[in-house]
Amino acid sequence: MITISPSIIDDTLAQLAIYGKGRKEIVVLWLAKKEAGHAVVQRVYVPLQETGRAFFRIPPKGMRLLFEELRKDRLMVAAQVHTHPMEAFHSWADDTMAVIKHAGALSLVLPYFARETTAANFVEQTKVFSLSKSNEWDEITFNQEIAIR
Ligand SMILES: [Zn+2]
Repeated sequence: MITISPSIIDDTLAQLAIYGKGRKEIVVLWLAKKEAGHAVVQRVYVPLQETGRAFFRIPPKGMRLLFEELRKDRLMVAAQVHTHPMEAFHSWADDTMAVIKHAGALSLVLPYFARETTAANFVEQTKVFSLSKSNEWDEITFNQEIAIR
C-alpha cells in the first residue's frame, strides 16, 4: 500500500506536461519513505531519459543518478508513472523495461499523453498495474494499493 498527497498528483501532471508536452511519452517516479509497513510518497522524480512518440528509455547514466538520489535521501521507488499516445495498457516493452521490479511494485499508465488528465479525473483515467510474485504485471484498481490523503 502506498500513500500519496493530492499535491503529488498535481506535481505528476505538471512534470508530465512539462517534459512530454502532450506529444511524447514520459516517465516519472514516485519516491517514497517506508513508514510502518507502507510507502509514503515524498516527491515526484523525473529521471534522465530518452523519449519519443511511443517509447521511453532510461539510459545507464539515468539509473546511476536515480540510485544516487535514492541513497542520498534513503528513499525507494514506490511507483513509476508514464504516458501513452493512446490507450493506457501495459505493453511488452513496459513489462520488460520497468524501472522497478520488486513484487508489489506499481506501474501507472496515463492515456493520450495525459493531455486530458486532471487532478479531478486522475484516479479514473489512470490504469494501475502491480507486479506479482510470479513476475507478472496484473491490472488492479487504483484504490486497491494507493491511498490519497
Ligand atoms: Zn507504456
